[in-house]
Amino acid sequence: MTPLSLFYPVSPHTVTRGWGVEDELYAEFGFKKHNGVDLALSVGQEIRAPFDCTVTLVGNHPKGSGLFVCVLSNAQYDFPDGARTRVELSFMHLSGTPVRKGMRLGVGAVLAYGGSTGKSTGPHVHIAPKRVKKGLLGYRDYDRNDANNTFDPTAYWNGAYATLS
Ligand SMILES: [Zn+2]
Repeated sequence: MTPLSLFYPVSPHTVTRGWGVEDELYAEFGFKKHNGVDLALSVGQEIRAPFDCTVTLVGNHPKGSGLFVCVLSNAQYDFPDGARTRVELSFMHLSGTPVRKGMRLGVGAVLAYGGSTGKSTGPHVHIAPKRVKKGLLGYRDYDRNDANNTFDPTAYWNGAYATLS
């Protein structure tokens, strides 16, 4: 059994909006609930890998997520509901990133710098966690819900900050 364990990617760990909050502003993106957690930070602040992962996408949606980085866990994790999946994390509203697609990152590696790009009212990082399983055409969402198939990461933070070992 390998439970998911996430290190805090920014210090201090201050949640400014939790997962699952209903808000009409998500309707334009096709879902009802906040599909992640928002953490406070300052522009340029380092955001560090919360688990061992591989960068799967670096992109920019100026009207939505802004500059974003997606990473996929190297390990599969066992969840309380019996699921065994990998986890994809998308980090949004970034000001910059030192990573490129395909890079492997250990816990604590800098994956991005905080910002307020895209649809954002102030500096923060939005982290959207998804459970994903490998299918015929690559990884697909394991969950189906009105929070864009994400899950609440709150129970999986391990209480320590991500630092290079
Ligand atoms: Zn958010």
